[in-house]
Amino acid sequence: MSIDKPTISVGPPGTFPGFSGPHAPQESDLYKCVHCGFCLQACPTYLETGLEAESPRGRIALMKAVNEGRLDMSPSVVGHWDLCLQCRACELACPSGVEYGKLMEATRAQVEQHTKRSFTERTARSIGYNTMLPSPVKLRMAGNALKFYKKSGMRTIARGTGLLKLLPGDAELADAYLPELSDNFFVAKGQVHPAQGVRKAKVAMLAGCVMALTHAETLEATVRVLTRNGIEVHLTAGQGCCGALNTHSGEPDSAIEMAKQNIDSFLSAKPDAIVSASAGCGAAMKDYGELLANESEYVDKAKQVAELTKDIHELLVEYEFEAPTKPLNVKVTYQDPCHLLNVQRITDAPRAILNSIPGLELINLGEAAVCCGSAGTYSLTQREMSAKLGKRKARNVLATGAEIVATGNPGCAMQLDFALTEVAKEDSISRSTKVRYVVDLLDQAYALERS
Ligand code: SF4
Ligand code: SF4
Repeated sequence: MSIDKPTISVGPPGTFPGFSGPHAPQESDLYKCVHCGFCLQACPTYLETGLEAESPRGRIALMKAVNEGRLDMSPSVVGHWDLCLQCRACELACPSGVEYGKLMEATRAQVEQHTKRSFTERTARSIGYNTMLPSPVKLRMAGNALKFYKKSGMRTIARGTGLLKLLPGDAELADAYLPELSDNFFVAKGQVHPAQGVRKAKVAMLAGCVMALTHAETLEATVRVLTRNGIEVHLTAGQGCCGALNTHSGEPDSAIEMAKQNIDSFLSAKPDAIVSASAGCGAAMKDYGELLANESEYVDKAKQVAELTKDIHELLVEYEFEAPTKPLNVKVTYQDPCHLLNVQRITDAPRAILNSIPGLELINLGEAAVCCGSAGTYSLTQREMSAKLGKRKARNVLATGAEIVATGNPGCAMQLDFALTEVAKEDSISRSTKVRYVVDLLDQAYALERS
């Protein structure tokens, strides 16, 4: 099975009745597009393919055609939608205010309602979206199993004996994409980290799902940076994954349940703000009001959480973080995560933090607005396009000559890491560029003051 191609089945031709049922795209959103094409050059999949069907305008035209019964929701149509990264660069370029992200999320929910995926895909999706992501405990168990697989020599045996080729699905691909895991996972279980000095604010902090396993050190750095700046941090118990991966993959019902758990958990601390060190998660939480709009018991609390949510860079700047005083002599380029740039529209705050570090030279990155190809589970489900965009981004990073590429999202950090290694292999060069979070560098600069 190639997971780059949709393996869905649909009803007989001409029988699709148009979008219907829960989470359907709103016609008022669908018919806002005036076909001007201003979004085309902003779209990474259009830039790579030059095909109208792989552009925002083309995908919206397909949505309209399917809605009006002129086209079936065929594997080919779904394939064009699936290739969309949901990076939302098109929204920034659109003069008509088309909320493309909302349209695509609703369209994907329709695909899941009206089509049938293969048994392997259904099983994988059910395990991922309904079993693993809603449970931080199960995610940590899976993380520990992965660590064992890598460290015990089992991975070497599986690769060396060709066992991966014999397993069903894309086991070889999954193995190649296994992320590096943190030595100690980050666990939110009700800890309170007091502010240093005068307390400016009390925040609840999201630990998240993937980031808590892959970048636990950055989450610890985030706590240190916040407390260093007079902010009390509550790692409220009962929180879990923000639900973004589910929402983007057409699984809004499970995302709603995950959001409810987080809402109860965060609001229990009565925080002044809720902070996310992951751009994708922060964007998802800022959208809770909309996601839970039909949940009468939660809608007001969801709006409250959405309003309280801040990206870490946004929060630090708002609370006037202290600039470090000791120099960190390093050349850095900054990669804008799409969910910070296009969705939360935050561009200055991360740069302000980097520029506040004495000695740090910030170098502009070419094609800064083009997605790195990570896009949640996209790097697994659309590996060819993901790899192309990852390498494109890595080559832009290398062109800056920076020693470090800084970012603010776990998916981007993993994708950059993977792509920089791939490009180094392709070009037979040794890889020296490191991937860090902006907050890691601020924490490192503060640490110099203590040494
Ligand atoms: S979300 Fe990104 S990939 Fe999808 S259509 Fe818009 S610009 Fe293209
Ligand atoms: S820029 Fe907006 S209105 Fe113009 S084609 Fe793209 S989505 Fe449609």
